[in-house]
Amino acid sequence: MMDHRPLSAAIVFADRFYLSDKAMTELSCMGNCALAEAKSADDLAEKIGGSSSVKIIISEYVPVNDLVLSKTPALKGVIAYGSGYDHIDVGAMKRKGVQACNCHGENSQAVAELTFGLLLCLLRKTHKVDPWVRAGGWVKAGRDLPEWAFGKELWRKTLGVIGLGQIGARVVRIAKGFDMKIIGYDPFMNPEQYSRLEVEPVVLSELLSRSDVVTLHVPLTPETEKMLDSRALASVKPGMILVNTSRGRVIEEEAFIDALQTGRIEGAALDVFTNEPLPPGHPLAKMDNVVLSPHLGALSREAGDRLSDSVVRQVREILEGRTPEGLIN
Ligand code: NAD
Repeated sequence: MMDHRPLSAAIVFADRFYLSDKAMTELSCMGNCALAEAKSADDLAEKIGGSSSVKIIISEYVPVNDLVLSKTPALKGVIAYGSGYDHIDVGAMKRKGVQACNCHGENSQAVAELTFGLLLCLLRKTHKVDPWVRAGGWVKAGRDLPEWAFGKELWRKTLGVIGLGQIGARVVRIAKGFDMKIIGYDPFMNPEQYSRLEVEPVVLSELLSRSDVVTLHVPLTPETEKMLDSRALASVKPGMILVNTSRGRVIEEEAFIDALQTGRIEGAALDVFTNEPLPPGHPLAKMDNVVLSPHLGALSREAGDRLSDSVVRQVREILEGRTPEGLIN
């Protein structure tokens, strides 16, 4: 039976995510903790139900909006678990005097490493040869390996990085190990920042027409939503490879699938999608020139521990009336 009693804890986890045992122990010393396991903002608002105990909400994906704020009269702060905070209505919180923060930078190495993990998997066909070996394909083929197993290198190719913040900058650092030529598009960076990263600044259209590989590291905002639309995708260098570990909605999905089917885009490595979870019958799930992962860019043990520590520090800062380190409003 459903329990409709309001959550009456000081610290509410809107959804389920990794927190270290150490962090859980430290949080419990600061107040009662409760897991809402909400499916939506409406669900979270209903579960909290006007409780005046709730001081902090921590959410990875569940939207925290005006409705949730209207049911949390004593709320002091909302922490986005992770770097992306497109699910948090930062403006509504500012109007209500509620602090909003994220755990900026704590998971960036994990995402940057997965970016190359997926990319190398796609280029060297690991996603195809692994099941082939397990199924006995190698035993049958012997030394005569099939032509489809031949891959491509990154060495000296041109990498286009869209968004050069915490993750983008780490991707640049890794790419240098492959002697890649790196060009970047981030209108919020100044020339000094570009030269410190040793990245050539270009406009988006030039990045798309010159890059062998394009990788996305922008937040989802009204400006970035569908920034790779049908027009942009039609202008990419033929045979380009696209990597997306940012947010699915940055790409216009229908046009993207079309570009993959026609071969204008040769392949893609994707951790994020317009609608998540991706259903098995989805066109992207049927293409073998696409490598898929279930939005787990941030899911390394090390990043989980850093995020846990960041959450604890920020809960303490908010409850003590200080400015949290990751304040975003
Ligand atoms: P960040 O804020 O450090 O960097 C984002 C960069 O994008 C900034 O430099 C900003 O100037 C730039 N930018 C903003 N608008 C832009 C635009 N219109 N065009 C080009 N550049 C623009 O953030 P980050 O920590 O590097 O994370 C980037 C994004 O990655 C997050 O917002 C989140 O959506 C995503 N992310 C995904 C995962 C995952 O599990 N796959 C994990 C963490 C973060």
